[in-house]
Amino acid sequence: DPDMAERSADVIRTLLRHGHEAYWVGGCVRDEYMGRRVSDMDITTSALPEVTCSVFPKVIPTGIKHGTVTVLMEGQSFEVTTYRVESGYEDHRHPTEVAFVGEVKEDLRRRDFTMNAMARGIDGSWVDPFGGREDIDRQVIRCVGDARLRFREDALRMVRCIRFASVFGFSIALRTWRGILSERDTLGWIAMERIRSEFEKILAGPSPLRGLEMFVRSGLHSRMKAPFPYTTHDRKTIEAMERIEPDHATIRWSLLLLACGITAQEAEELLRSWTFSNKQRESIVKLLSLHESYLQEPNEGDDESSRLKWISLVLAHGVEAAQGWLEMQTALHHTGASSAPLTFIRQLDAWLQNLKIRSLKDLAITGSELLEALGRRGGPWLGELLGLLLGKAAADLINNDKESLIEEAKRVVIHNEGS
Ligand code: ATP
Ligand code: MG
Repeated sequence: DPDMAERSADVIRTLLRHGHEAYWVGGCVRDEYMGRRVSDMDITTSALPEVTCSVFPKVIPTGIKHGTVTVLMEGQSFEVTTYRVESGYEDHRHPTEVAFVGEVKEDLRRRDFTMNAMARGIDGSWVDPFGGREDIDRQVIRCVGDARLRFREDALRMVRCIRFASVFGFSIALRTWRGILSERDTLGWIAMERIRSEFEKILAGPSPLRGLEMFVRSGLHSRMKAPFPYTTHDRKTIEAMERIEPDHATIRWSLLLLACGITAQEAEELLRSWTFSNKQRESIVKLLSLHESYLQEPNEGDDESSRLKWISLVLAHGVEAAQGWLEMQTALHHTGASSAPLTFIRQLDAWLQNLKIRSLKDLAITGSELLEALGRRGGPWLGELLGLLLGKAAADLINNDKESLIEEAKRVVIHNEGS
């Protein structure tokens, strides 16, 4: 984003003009060197936070105690942090003390990996005291300083290490890897939310399998607050993950759980303990439960009864789950984990595309209108009847207009009373 680069350069120039030092730092410097898309541009400065606040017209004192101020610049926002060092990590995560320092190098020393401990000046100069560029060139993740100490200070760094190795396809320096093996027991201190967020990045990366394997080989998987069920898994199912679009997180997670033999019901609890959002959890559970329902009664025909069965499955679990499931089936077909032929998957997809309506809210009649038309009191039967009408209208067996729906409802009610 050239606009972001220009605005952040304005922030740096403003600080320089007031007589302070300022650099781009951390992830943005690394990503730019690697030729990756830069997401946010952080700035580090010798100016104290109060000074930064006074220099810019629009600021938010985001974490002023820790030295971080958010500067707003023509619709963009940048985190500007005073050079600082940290100490006293009593809970293996949060420093108890922060001190502002005068040298950028000292600030870089507190950062986790050499590739993340580089700063870049407005004139194109580099501050790279730990050989970050060289490590990037060699494709190695390496701790700044003594790996064991750095992981003991903040246990989340172990997961970040594997995340970077997995997402970038880098290896882990030997001492850094040994540091993980020696400090892995401290992972239990880390909130699942933080671990999940690193895991989401591993799963959205180009080779989640690599990250999962490193996670298990390091032994970190058995030291988290919540369980990670990756001990036995079906290889072909897990391989299908990498055939799914990286940002289709629901499908990638569903495949992971499926490969580990987790049922929809077990997934519900597991994903809760992993602190997934309700929305994300529900989508995954729906996909898995559609899969289970399908397996209970697999049908690979192209006849009318197969079509109706599929439509009722789709309506019961939702169109989104059905689309995800088809994508999953295609991937499973390619890795040989599913025997369902592609022609059949395409047939189901075509039936899905041809659905006339997709949910109760698309139905041209409401429950109360139906009660009025039938002259009856509500009850559990009403939900059943609506579901039946939805199924028929979706399958194009009846028209989705009030008159046809009422006519069909009457027929069903009379038929049921007769029997
Ligand atoms: P991402 O691509 O995920 O944004 P990032 O390296 O930018 O990766 P951030 O969490 O945005 O990660 O952190 C910005 C910078 O802060 C890092 O590059 C690193 O220098 C430093 N940093 C972040 N987390 C830690 C940590 N746990 N320990 C030490 N330094 C950290
Ligand atoms: Mg970042």
